[in-house]
Amino acid sequence: MEVSEQDKNFELQDSGDRGSGVFTKNFYGKGRVVMTGVMDKIVSINHVGVSQIGEHEYVAPVGFMALVNHSCNPNCGIKVNETGAHDYVAMRDIEPGEEVTFDYAMQNYKIGYFPSRCLCGSSECRGTVGGWVDLPKDKRQHYEGYVAPYLLELDNS
Ligand SMILES: [Zn+2]
Repeated sequence: MEVSEQDKNFELQDSGDRGSGVFTKNFYGKGRVVMTGVMDKIVSINHVGVSQIGEHEYVAPVGFMALVNHSCNPNCGIKVNETGAHDYVAMRDIEPGEEVTFDYAMQNYKIGYFPSRCLCGSSECRGTVGGWVDLPKDKRQHYEGYVAPYLLELDNS
């Protein structure tokens, strides 16, 4: 696999039960863009790992972005960039050597099928990986400003 400039800031490491994860080599202060999304692959099928941008439109991340693990207590959230793709943005300070995670519910309104129990290991683990529609109200509030905006449109439709 050809490594992009962005991916040089990260490396794949063992993440215990979850297989491999994406770990950063750098410090990112809260609010900083950790990984920049590109409108490379637009797909019409919803599955875990794609990010919803329309009713039947999803962006598939490329490179290491596609390998970032879910956590029920993530250190990153999602923001739309000027291309319309989704960046991963630090929700809190992230230290060098930390695994980058986000909550899959931040990018998919519904996750119809997730093969196994959630293995994130967080004390806030919900047990299963669901979509935005499954999130409790306090989690939604905590994620405010860090989710795909299209999900909020669906809430209001
Ligand atoms: Zn979990």
